[in-house]
Amino acid sequence: MTNRQIFLNHVAQTIDTPLGIEIVRAEGIYLYGPDGEKYMDMISGISVSSLGHCHPAVVKAVQDQASKFMHLMVYGEYIYSPQVKLAQALAHILPKSLDNFYFVNSGTEATEGALKLAKRYTKRTEIVSCHQAYHGSTAGALSAMGSEDYKSAFRPLIPGHFHIQFNVEEDLNKITEKTAAVLIEVVQAESGIIVGNESYFYKLRQRCTELGVLLIFDEIQTGIGRTGSMFAFEQIGVVPDILLLGKALGGGMPIAAFIASKNVMQALSHHPILGHISTFGGNAVTCAAALAVVETLTHSTILSEVESKGQLLESELRNLGFTHIRRKGLMLGIDHGDQETNFAFIKKCVDNGLITDWFLFNTQTMRICPPLTITEAEISLFISKLQTLL
Ligand code: PMP
Repeated sequence: MTNRQIFLNHVAQTIDTPLGIEIVRAEGIYLYGPDGEKYMDMISGISVSSLGHCHPAVVKAVQDQASKFMHLMVYGEYIYSPQVKLAQALAHILPKSLDNFYFVNSGTEATEGALKLAKRYTKRTEIVSCHQAYHGSTAGALSAMGSEDYKSAFRPLIPGHFHIQFNVEEDLNKITEKTAAVLIEVVQAESGIIVGNESYFYKLRQRCTELGVLLIFDEIQTGIGRTGSMFAFEQIGVVPDILLLGKALGGGMPIAAFIASKNVMQALSHHPILGHISTFGGNAVTCAAALAVVETLTHSTILSEVESKGQLLESELRNLGFTHIRRKGLMLGIDHGDQETNFAFIKKCVDNGLITDWFLFNTQTMRICPPLTITEAEISLFISKLQTLL
């Protein structure tokens, strides 16, 4: 059997039309196939490979740590260097109120942990999230998801979840003293890059503070540099009570985190003890990779160049005739007006070695989220390849 046949027969599929591209190697912004095919990865494995594929600092950190030890014990029992150093490095770049880290393995686990923490800390049961929001695929995160299309087949879900319209100030009245937490993205990613507005977030913060509601920012997709600052919330000047990170944090290794103050996080350590446990959370190898990511971003010019590269990409795309573009940093959505046109254009791109994609809740918009390390020359090359397709 060919690898393709094994893939189709034995690897679980979630769509009838998977991309189905075979990859044997990846480096920088490029993916390589078995017969020398070369693809530009303009989506970074859905905003994961922000430092590009196989960044040397991440590869070295993984190799060094793998040769020392990998797994020791479930989360939060032993003291070991890559984990505590990662916590220290993140504490250094976050506000003081976000200095306690629960490391997990995936974004949806970070969401689950945060929702449990908010309920436990506030002793309330209601969770408010936004229409068109994606926070993960497990039961709690799915309950918070803002799309009936994707969740109704899996009901009954967790009770007590309510939805408000993103960026709509009047809807903030639906947050009450029964609400444990508001779970929200700063830039709604899967609805096709909808940027949160500052005054809305300011009022949201005020309302949550007044009512004793915990504000959770899901920065799983926007965090770790994607929007041009380490965290998108820095640009709106509003600090959450709980922050979720994932995706780009591990530079390709599976690590995510929910982050709060020590005071809030302590709610998981009593009545009951072991309020949230994870076998692999905070695994030494993934922590070493994440530490390399944070250090690389902290000590390089990558972050400071995100906005100018985003601007260049956007203006070049506009020059090609794409007028409906939404952008934050190096997160771009090109609106094609309808799903058919969008899917056809994405297919043409992929067939010609340019990996782009659509958004879960916005099938008429094309996703462009390249590695943050993309060079200006690579942007020009992408644009010229795109031009030949038009
Ligand atoms: N939140 C957001 C904003 C996301 O974009 C994603 C993944 N697309 C998740 C949560 C879930 O992350 P994971 O797939 O790692 O569970």
